Amino acid sequence: MPHPRIASVVAVEPHPDDVEILCLGTLLKLKQEGTRLTIVCVTNGDKGSGNQPDLPYPEVAAMRFREASSVAAALGAEFINLGAEDEYLYDTPELRNALAAVFRRAKADVVLAPSPHCYQTDHTIASEIAFQAAHLSALPQLRITPPALPALPALPSAPAMYYYDTLPGLDFEPSFYVDISGQMARKQELARMHTSQMASMKSQSDWDLVEAIEVLGRMRGLQSGTRYAEAFRLCARYPRLKAWTQFPA
Ligand SMILES: [Zn+2]
Repeated sequence: MPHPRIASVVAVEPHPDDVEILCLGTLLKLKQEGTRLTIVCVTNGDKGSGNQPDLPYPEVAAMRFREASSVAAALGAEFINLGAEDEYLYDTPELRNALAAVFRRAKADVVLAPSPHCYQTDHTIASEIAFQAAHLSALPQLRITPPALPALPALPSAPAMYYYDTLPGLDFEPSFYVDISGQMARKQELARMHTSQMASMKSQSDWDLVEAIEVLGRMRGLQSGTRYAEAFRLCARYPRLKAWTQFPA
């Protein structure tokens, strides 16, 4: 049964796998409710080769694009990559417009974005770009024209915006939780499709990506009285709020 006011959710990730680690359970839940989902990755992830540091960057980017696309297809979401350089993300007018175009095309009711307090600048800057793009997406005087397409009409109002958790849960005071106990197994199964990142994180930081999902989900579950949860913060800044602002999942 679709949420009456949330037909479309766009989840913004700095790298191909952040959404999978930090809010995929919620997306799985929304999908069950009939919500249309878009995952938009801001960088191309081409530095995600800690286990094979000599791999050419374009190969890494192509591999990660395939992995993230496969997860999105299994989830039933559209996957878009904006192609900025991994580890060197800057807030530019082009990226703001590209992201605003995604929000417009998806007719986004809700945007899920990285926290402005996450662990590296690709995350904090993607958060800023999403913050501004949510505002721009509803300004009719901004003629945002994706290449080879007619200008996209502005949204009737800015999408509601929420920040998802940080890696690994640091400097993040949740304002609400989504119970993902019923989605945890599937979340881990889909995250495991990031084969390159399973290997890269293990080699670089001795992290097991799927174990990290388990630990963070369990910690947020303990805090909110359930087995597994994902944590979010409302972005309480005008005009990114709705009268109905309360997460449905
Ligand atoms: Zn990341």
